[in-house]
Amino acid sequence: MIRTTLENKWDKYWKDPNTVVWHKNIIGVYHVSAIGCDHQHLEPEDHSGPCLRQTFYQYVAPVEKNLKSKGNLNQGTVMHKEAERIYQIKRSYSIIEFPLAKSINKDIAATGSVDVVDFLDNNEVLVLDFKTSSEWTFPKGKNDRQITHFDQVYIYAALLQNFVFGNTKRISHLKVVYLNKHDQFTGEQEMEYVNNIGLSKLLDFSNRCKKLHGHLVDYRNKIYSCNGSYLPNREPMKWCKYCDYKNCCRENVIGGEALKTYTKGEVGALYAKETGKSPIWRGNYTKAYKDFEKGYKVE
Ligand code: SF4
Repeated sequence: MIRTTLENKWDKYWKDPNTVVWHKNIIGVYHVSAIGCDHQHLEPEDHSGPCLRQTFYQYVAPVEKNLKSKGNLNQGTVMHKEAERIYQIKRSYSIIEFPLAKSINKDIAATGSVDVVDFLDNNEVLVLDFKTSSEWTFPKGKNDRQITHFDQVYIYAALLQNFVFGNTKRISHLKVVYLNKHDQFTGEQEMEYVNNIGLSKLLDFSNRCKKLHGHLVDYRNKIYSCNGSYLPNREPMKWCKYCDYKNCCRENVIGGEALKTYTKGEVGALYAKETGKSPIWRGNYTKAYKDFEKGYKVE
């Protein structure tokens, strides 16, 4: 972890004026990575979204990411592109950033972009997705699978198998490759592709698109009388504590105008005043946030 008093100059050196915004938040167009499958049968610690409520907020009341988050995302994008570039040089028949679009009904289209589609011997195809991770999110081993990551690649594979390749090619397996941003360690996990499972994940995904679409259309049509009742249900997961919308989510409101965001220092001071103890920080997070992030103790 870097501790410095230097001002963050990310915008100056990294903000690319030619960046293409891939996610334009158009109601009726939903990206596979923002919708995923439903995992509310699992414990929140066992999955990492996506949460339809969080995606809803991104469409109707997006918050600007801070410079540190932008830098973090940007570093991931840089590594991602470089890994794809090198992969294609080594496997010249592979296709990188394979674009996908599929209508779900007359109002809704699903979109996505597959990192790598690699054509193997015997008419088999590998579908691969790169994920950048940190020291803390890197898988501990082969069986420490992040189900959400495999959902995404499974949905892509189901779209490819059933609506692009048909009987001409068989998707045999899926890979998720993890690029650790902290120490450059790279690892991979693999899974067999089974089309029936792919189709059931695709159905789950399609239903979630329809559900979110219903909430967004209701919100758009009654935008002036909105009081939060158009929100999809919460889908708690292990990264809720870092969610940009956690304050609005907790209060069931849309838009954060009425909610002050307390700084790290302010949260620490409130905690210390009430408890007489100093908060223990792990990076930018402290348990004190849970109780004091809104400026008062949440019982
Ligand atoms: S705090 Fe959790 S449940 Fe609420 S919107 Fe964010 S991710 Fe969803």
